[in-house]
Amino acid sequence: MAEKTRYIGIDLGGTNIKAALVNTETGEIAAVQSAPTNSREGHDAVIASMAKLVDQISTESGFGKDEIGGVGVGLPGSIDIGKGTSVFLTNFPGHWIDVPVRDQLSRWSGLPASLINDARAMTLGEWKFGAGRGYDIACLTLGTGIGGGLVINGRLHLGPTGSAGELGHLSVDINGPQCGCGNRGCIESFASGPAISAMAMKAVVQGRETKIATLAGGDLNRVTPELITEAALAGDRIAREIYEFAGDVIGAGVTNIILSVSPGRIVIGGGVAAAGDLILDPIRQSIRRRCFLKETDQIEVVPAKLGNTAGLIGAAVWARDHITGR
Ligand SMILES: [Zn+2]
Repeated sequence: MAEKTRYIGIDLGGTNIKAALVNTETGEIAAVQSAPTNSREGHDAVIASMAKLVDQISTESGFGKDEIGGVGVGLPGSIDIGKGTSVFLTNFPGHWIDVPVRDQLSRWSGLPASLINDARAMTLGEWKFGAGRGYDIACLTLGTGIGGGLVINGRLHLGPTGSAGELGHLSVDINGPQCGCGNRGCIESFASGPAISAMAMKAVVQGRETKIATLAGGDLNRVTPELITEAALAGDRIAREIYEFAGDVIGAGVTNIILSVSPGRIVIGGGVAAAGDLILDPIRQSIRRRCFLKETDQIEVVPAKLGNTAGLIGAAVWARDHITGR
């Protein structure tokens, strides 16, 4: 029997669950569906929503479940790949410790299922079909937190349980701010979306000369990385400095990655990466300034290509590889 090429990728987000049918040979996606996560209703309700999305995708795409190879789910936190359980989901309401997501979804959807961390799914998607194609990569996704993933020697590097690649928690300052993970000075605690917004709010409160206050209409709650980007593009010095600092910190973390595993490309995605060269150039300069033991000219820092679809594609590719034992 010919190997199946269609798999469903699911991205479990705090607000929405997104799902799509993915052609794992070409990276094309079809029948994109989404539903509100409603995580407060508990894990059973969330897993039931995923199973319902699987049914809808099968109906909409015209591919019967016998033609679909399985379902891959990207979860926002730590998981145990072998057991198919969620271990701890960061910033996610409800009880998710040791929930058998894989087996429950498989029972309710009638398809084999497989779990992966969401940033690792994005890494896999960008590596197979996006900005990381043909290279060993380190991928960072800059958002509410900083997620990561590594491809080493042509393989997604996961470690025994799938926890390897937590690049957002590389510490660059032993006395730095407390991070949600328990350590201090992680790059996430300096350069996540909320950390970037907090720097801008502080500048406004200190009465420093910046357009940020005006752009936010005087309301600090409206300060976001997008708004800081807008200010920076309009020439605002403070806004540019904030991205320079965030990029410098990320570059320090990336230097540690380069020295450890020597990737050929660094792929930067997530909402904050929409700032483009405002943050990418400081990352590049930081690496050049800090990384003396290795030739850094060959290592490119590039923006992610696939946007929100990277996680869906990567989760589906993961399901194919894991279910078929590739
Ligand atoms: Zn941390």
